[in-house]
Amino acid sequence: MTGAPRTIGEIASYHAHVYYDPATSRDEAERLRNWIGERFLVTLGRWHDVKVGPHDQTMYQVAFAAELFPTLVPWLMLNHGSLSILVHPNTTNPRRDHHDDPLWIGTPLAVHADKLPEVAEMEQAPAPNTSPTLRP
Ligand code: ZN
Repeated sequence: MTGAPRTIGEIASYHAHVYYDPATSRDEAERLRNWIGERFLVTLGRWHDVKVGPHDQTMYQVAFAAELFPTLVPWLMLNHGSLSILVHPNTTNPRRDHHDDPLWIGTPLAVHADKLPEVAEMEQAPAPNTSPTLRP
């Protein structure tokens, strides 16, 4: 390793991918999704009941601004139940973000990094679609 460390400024936003099994844990995933929406100003993505992209399990995405990381991520640590969650930064390299640099809450799953580009536009957090009324 040579050179300067990477900086926080590389991170435009984050995703949390919440994985579930349609046959056994969709209800749990739905409960967690509702809890998140009630507590955090985030963008809840649609349900993917079939595998998409690099993901090895059905899932939905939670997109969130960097400022939310210190509350949302610990809250997910406490409340993920039996679900696996992939939390990754969004920089200009989606392959590295998902495969080399993420953190896992719960049991890690496979990520098919070859399906991701190595260069992309930085993804700012989209407009939130939740209306939280409860404190985390
Ligand atoms: Zn993602």
